[in-house]
Amino acid sequence: MGYIELNVLNNNESPLAMGIDLGTTNSLAAVWKEGRPVVIKPDGAPSGSVPSVIHLPERGEAVVGHKAREQAIVDPRHTIFSIKRLMGRGLADVQADLTAFPFPVEEDANGVLRVQAHGREYTPEQLSSLILMRVHDLACRSMGGGEITRAVITVPAYFDDTQRQATRDAARLAGLDVMRIINEPTAASLAYGLDQSATGKIAVYDLGGGTFDISILSIEEGVFRVLSTNGDTHLGGDDFDAALVQLVLERLDQRLSREELADPALQRAARLAAEKCKHELSAKPEADLHLVLPDSGINVRRNVTREEFEALVQPLVQRTLDACRRALSDAGLEPREVSEVVLVGGSTRMPVVRKAVEDFFGRLPHTELNPDEVVALGAAVQAHILTGGSRDLLLMDVTPLSLGLETMGGAVAKVIARNSTIPCQATEGFTTYVDNQTGLDFNIVQGERELASDCRSLGRFKLSGIPPLPAGMARVAVRFHVDADGLLKVTAREESTGATASITVQPKHGLTDEQVETMLADSLTYAREDFEAGRAAGLVTELGTMIRATERNLPHVADDLDPEARADIRDALAEAKAAAETHDAKRLQAARDALEQATLPLAALLMDQVAKKALAGKSLTDV
Ligand code: AMP
Repeated sequence: MGYIELNVLNNNESPLAMGIDLGTTNSLAAVWKEGRPVVIKPDGAPSGSVPSVIHLPERGEAVVGHKAREQAIVDPRHTIFSIKRLMGRGLADVQADLTAFPFPVEEDANGVLRVQAHGREYTPEQLSSLILMRVHDLACRSMGGGEITRAVITVPAYFDDTQRQATRDAARLAGLDVMRIINEPTAASLAYGLDQSATGKIAVYDLGGGTFDISILSIEEGVFRVLSTNGDTHLGGDDFDAALVQLVLERLDQRLSREELADPALQRAARLAAEKCKHELSAKPEADLHLVLPDSGINVRRNVTREEFEALVQPLVQRTLDACRRALSDAGLEPREVSEVVLVGGSTRMPVVRKAVEDFFGRLPHTELNPDEVVALGAAVQAHILTGGSRDLLLMDVTPLSLGLETMGGAVAKVIARNSTIPCQATEGFTTYVDNQTGLDFNIVQGERELASDCRSLGRFKLSGIPPLPAGMARVAVRFHVDADGLLKVTAREESTGATASITVQPKHGLTDEQVETMLADSLTYAREDFEAGRAAGLVTELGTMIRATERNLPHVADDLDPEARADIRDALAEAKAAAETHDAKRLQAARDALEQATLPLAALLMDQVAKKALAGKSLTDV
């Protein structure tokens, strides 16, 4: 098995930082030791992995890991799993997941999700921080009690900016100093040390418990580069379990009512039975799917052959191959141009998956390392590099989705293209569209679709303080900067006067820095801010400016506007004035958007006039 030869500069034996794989199903830590990465296991334990499950008892401390998982059947309502799916997300993003959760999840006024238990509320960041604390604590104890607080943490390649930020916040809450957030497939490529092969392309196929990622990497002279990433954040071993759950529940269809079938304890027990059967089918040609719930008098046994299971999950396997096709197409490659294939994630133990990947790429995939450990091992390699262990290896990642701004009319101006190597930056120019406009609204979006409404809004901000200038004269440069962790910062600057304005981009479903601070100080509660009121106040101000600018400019070009456009502006103005009297953020927003839309032809005419004035008296050669 080939661990990486890394030209170790610093062979310090006591590790300075750890790598942590914060997984949907399991989490674990690894460190660099005696010239290679090793997973940290308690003495005598077969694995160092901690189930990413939290039990929240009515009184006393939260329980994390194996003990918490045991509570899943007894107390499903307070046993939290797959919390990674909620990280940095809003209610609308996770509707599909919620039906599978026996615990209640709600969204607060700030768009942050809250898991409810015993009248208390927990954010996904808080719950993930409990998992990180447990992993960190176990690791430190297994290593003899030395405290390592610096860590590299991995996330799926598909995590967007807000989800990465939520992960970072969770680590902070756990008392960790995050050196870097890296993509799981990138970590895996590091663990395999494939930089030893001089030049080539690698496909990292990662099928875990809840997510699927495919990454296409290139290696040139020891330098990894991510060419493309693709995947499905809602495809993993859990779905394979669900296929078997259906089989066992069919047996109970006749005997139980719909309510009884939906019972969380029954569902959870069926899932555990399905997972056990699935694991056995990876080693044997047939296995029993055995569901026992003594309290309900349920004892069902169903024999499943590997053949039957493989037919059942074929659509799931095909979905992973579809993503592989998309990733290859983004990288401009054919399957046969890939020289190495790496399997990551517990679900790649299934023979049906291995065979499908081998057939697709036409080569035997790497399976030498434990697929559950490979990501943590790679994170430990990265941690080692970052603490000065080796400077030879340069790691580059890519932005998983395009980043851009909503433009007038709701279209998207892409500023940073998908799969751009990070860190990266790009600047886009904007201008005002009415005379003396002193503010500009920006909506930062992430996604590949043409319309902003079809993309994910990462945050909105307003640049105010633009000097009053004729329409089209102000020059605002908006700079996008994605740092090495894949985190996005956006800044705007008015260029014609050199005036700058500082802008805070608030992730829609993330926690603010202040919120994290308060949480740290004040245990598990933090104050709510009245965002709606603030938003309404801002909109009233903005509408006032827009109304004044429109009324002032309209007479100058009224004759050139067609009657329909004039009527639209009149109607939008009337509604804007009425809305400005209210504190109804929704109505204000609609009125603002309507006025903006209606004044588009007006803005176009004004810009024409400005251009004509600027050109007046000049010969063509001056222009
Ligand atoms: P991970 O998120 O990488 O920890 O992967 C966990 C997933 O791998 C879970 O869905 C497990 O059921 C699955 N898994 C682990 N071992 C096996 C196995 N022997 N056969 C099939 N699936 C497995």
